[in-house]
Amino acid sequence: MKVALVTGAGRGIGKAIASSLASSGHFVICVSKSETSCQGAADEINQSGGKAVAMAVDVSNSAEVKAASEQILSDYERVDILVNNAGITKDGLLFRMTDEDWESVLQTNLNSCFYWTRNLARPMTRKRWGRIINISSVIGLVGNAGQANYAAAKAGMIGFTKSLAKEFAGRSVTVNAIAPGFIETDMTTSMDDSAQKHILGAIPLKKMGTSQDIAEMTKYLSSDSANYITGQVFTVDGGMVM
Ligand code: NAP
Repeated sequence: MKVALVTGAGRGIGKAIASSLASSGHFVICVSKSETSCQGAADEINQSGGKAVAMAVDVSNSAEVKAASEQILSDYERVDILVNNAGITKDGLLFRMTDEDWESVLQTNLNSCFYWTRNLARPMTRKRWGRIINISSVIGLVGNAGQANYAAAKAGMIGFTKSLAKEFAGRSVTVNAIAPGFIETDMTTSMDDSAQKHILGAIPLKKMGTSQDIAEMTKYLSSDSANYITGQVFTVDGGMVM
């Protein structure tokens, strides 16, 4: 049984990824900021016959991630599949963007990937098998007015992915990114009707994606079927970015 860790597993895309990895037979460590959220996701997996535990960790805090990683390595010896999915948005046009808006988005979306990967990748390289999957965004590929902080973080995740793919390739640890388009989750349902209508007009498949669409790609990239794929960015976006 492989050990998978999914950040932001309490809701939305991360929850679907955690559940899909559990259905593939993996033991899943569900991480989110609030205890209730990750515990709820782990309980659902356990109730449906899978195996999961919950850990509340603030992924933007280096010391918390280090302590959690040490606990995980002591309890389970390794993480075979790491999915860096936790993320937030704090949108605003540049002249109105505060230092806090900038720093918290970079810390939560990008620095968190560095913290988890630095703490958990070594056992993967020793075992000569591992999967690191970073959930970026199409916004990191094409940018978006009002999202300079988020776009910078998501583009940063892509550079991080490609560099580590090169660094770990000799050890058969693959590192890939997924760039979702507009997916129906708490992050997008707060948008007003006219913004949603505008976005739908830009999606060739004429519908928002589901968390399951992203979970399917993650499941594939974490499997042995994707042995020969590394350093890639997969857009799952209904054809928005071609
Ligand atoms: P969501 O529904 O808002 O869920 C975000 C998850 O991240 C929650 O479980 C939350 O924990 C966790 N999280 C946030 N800050 C955290 C922190 N500091 N420490 C630990 N966990 C934290 O988001 P989503 O829509 O599923 O998005 C998931 C990922 O996909 C994000 O990286 C997002 O940028 C990316 N993405 C989403 C879309 C989209 O359209 N939805 C498109 C492209 C990319 P709690 O549950 O405890 O609050």
